[in-house]
Amino acid sequence: MKQNGPYAEIIVDLTARRTDRVFHYAVPADLKDRVKPGSRVLVPFGGRRLAGYVVGFGFPERDVKVREIAGIIDEEPVLTGDLPEIARWMAESYLCSTAEAFGRIIAPRLAVKATREVKLLRPAFPDDKLQEVLSGLKHAPKQAAVLREALRGAGLTRKELAAAAQTSPATVDALVKAGLLEAKAVPPSGLPGGGSAAGSGMMPLLNPDQDKAVKEIAQAVAGGGFGAFLLYGVTGSGKTEVYLRAIASALAAGRQAVTLVPEISLTPQMIGLFRERFGALVAVLHSALAPGERYREWRRIKEGQAPVVLGTRSAVFAPMPGPGLFIIDEEHEPTYKQDDHIRYHAREVALKRAQLAGAVVVLGSATPSLESWLRAGRGGPYRLLRLPHRVDERPLPKVCVVDLRQEMKEGNRGIFSRALTSAVFERLGKGEQTLLFLNRRGYSTIVMCRECGLVLKCVRCDISLSYHLDGLLRCHYCNYTTDLPGLCPRCASRYIRHFGAGTQRVEEEARRTFPGARIMRMDSDSTSRKGSHERIFSAFRQGEADILIGTQMIAKGLDLPGITLVGVINADTTLHMPDFRAAERTFQLLTQVAGRTGRGELHGEVLVQTYCPEHYSITTASIHDCEGFYRSEMPVRRALGYPPYSHLARLLFTHDDEEELKKGAGLAKEILDKIVTEHDDLIDVLGPAPAPLSKIKGRFRWQLVVKGPRRGLLRDVIKESLEELQKLRPAFKPAINVDINPQGIL
Ligand code: ADP
Ligand code: ZN
Ligand code: ZN
Repeated sequence: MKQNGPYAEIIVDLTARRTDRVFHYAVPADLKDRVKPGSRVLVPFGGRRLAGYVVGFGFPERDVKVREIAGIIDEEPVLTGDLPEIARWMAESYLCSTAEAFGRIIAPRLAVKATREVKLLRPAFPDDKLQEVLSGLKHAPKQAAVLREALRGAGLTRKELAAAAQTSPATVDALVKAGLLEAKAVPPSGLPGGGSAAGSGMMPLLNPDQDKAVKEIAQAVAGGGFGAFLLYGVTGSGKTEVYLRAIASALAAGRQAVTLVPEISLTPQMIGLFRERFGALVAVLHSALAPGERYREWRRIKEGQAPVVLGTRSAVFAPMPGPGLFIIDEEHEPTYKQDDHIRYHAREVALKRAQLAGAVVVLGSATPSLESWLRAGRGGPYRLLRLPHRVDERPLPKVCVVDLRQEMKEGNRGIFSRALTSAVFERLGKGEQTLLFLNRRGYSTIVMCRECGLVLKCVRCDISLSYHLDGLLRCHYCNYTTDLPGLCPRCASRYIRHFGAGTQRVEEEARRTFPGARIMRMDSDSTSRKGSHERIFSAFRQGEADILIGTQMIAKGLDLPGITLVGVINADTTLHMPDFRAAERTFQLLTQVAGRTGRGELHGEVLVQTYCPEHYSITTASIHDCEGFYRSEMPVRRALGYPPYSHLARLLFTHDDEEELKKGAGLAKEILDKIVTEHDDLIDVLGPAPAPLSKIKGRFRWQLVVKGPRRGLLRDVIKESLEELQKLRPAFKPAINVDINPQGIL
């Protein structure tokens, strides 16, 4: 940023206008020392006062009337180090304005000036009293769980502790009241003295695979240049320990390390582990923190007091003075992609920051994304590190695939196959727990033959066709339509129809099939009330039910040791999503479900019901064969020109008048086609077609899918078309939203 010249160069936050023009403002005398590059200020603009970001100092090119900065918003610059550069890169990469990118980057900080204290809870009794205390809590298992969590770490807040023990904050309060937990106030600028900076966690001896991975990463970190690793390790292979050692190597090099986890619900366990190892050096950033807490953490990071940062997606913007390491756990998770407003991918931002800072990126996963897998292949930019064995040598659970077509043939048209039914009865008999997992209900209706498993697909896009209210089957990418066949075109069965049962129906049928069993259900209906999610989990954990029925949310990050059977009710809902990532998602989901089973002392079993038992995403997941999956899926992606062999963008058009919308989307298509032929005919413009969710809150949604081998060109073409369309307003009516490399297209 330019530092010379009397006028501040400011990007004004003109929401909704995609302009990056820099305006010059004079700095009033009383602000001279405080307005710096990276400061957020208030400026007069038109008749209003708007926020703006100081990007440098200089002179206007022409003689213009320069106005004065009206005030300063933060007491210190908010955009420091590499962050201004990252904002410019985001504006380029994701087609937003630089001001929008600035806003996104500082969002985790929030404009809070008050710096309230934060209270961390610790056990209030000596270690040797533990057994006594726990036996006193025999009839309060939830409180015992909270105490156990509190004992593990170097202090969690009330909310964090409740989340870690999967109970409500009221349970924590009860322990405080009983004098078993005490709250220590922590000043905004750090944890109290005495909290050892090194932490006190015991370090296990690394196994040879971990050791090799740690050595390679540590060497790269010490080298001080950019480097990227894909840490591919089966579930339970000890990736977290590798992260912890890698972080220690960054600290030894005098740099900071950021670790991202995909979901808030996963952070409490991680926070405990991190605080055990790194004590007061840890800062936590996620959206559930209170504004005061978030601000405290942001300050500690910026000032270098907390060089170990742990957080969810937006923590990738943490203001470290000298980042040396970025770790992304479960790098394949779609939650790393922001799915509204600026659609950035945290993995891409981390890679960019690492390039700017000369830092190392570690992407960890048991089921790496195809993008990362390709880059870790021969000649690719990532180095591949493998952890092929589970730490405890416990075998991965047995996965059985149940062919639902066979059930149909033999007259069973119910939700549960005979195999699943008898497996559940077996668990009920032994007093063990079962989890019945229903993939998220298809947001569009899939038509499938229940006798042969056929799903009609678009011949051009290889995307499952979905059934629409107009009675037609439609491809959401290219808008190919066809009539709903009366008989299956493959086997002539009459049983070709849309399908998919909700959790409620599964619950009803489970109650009929397993009379007397204690059944719980968890889905967005039954868990809309805040906290009921944790209540259901902890009740199940305490053994208050035999069967838990739920959707996606029960598949993630949960160690429920009493579960010895997982039934996947229908793998096909994910497998036939109208999205090119459907097979990948199915594979990841099944692998994840399997990885979570049998983590306790008991061995686990997974039963997967499907009408497509021969599909490679199911056969490979059933034998935990990740590489086998890539061998089948990669050629499909390559043949059809989908990522990772190309880049794909979705242009979403919305309007409350469907005719205007169709007209607008059609016009956009024409403009895009014209620009594409001028540039490069390798770019494909598909559609317009209704989006899978074709109407939300009274607004209709249509889309164009644009794909091409080169990301830069794809972006330029889209940018040019957006500018053309902008010129046609107000005659051109729809709102447009661009998503480059979306994780899903709804
Ligand atoms: P992943 O993240 O790869 O699924 P985790 O990091 O959760 O696996 O590790 C699984 C378990 O193994 C954890 O309980 C962890 O503490 C333990 N563990 C990791 N490394 C070692 C080691 N070298 N020796 C003993 N236990 C280990
Ligand atoms: Zn058929
Ligand atoms: Zn199509």
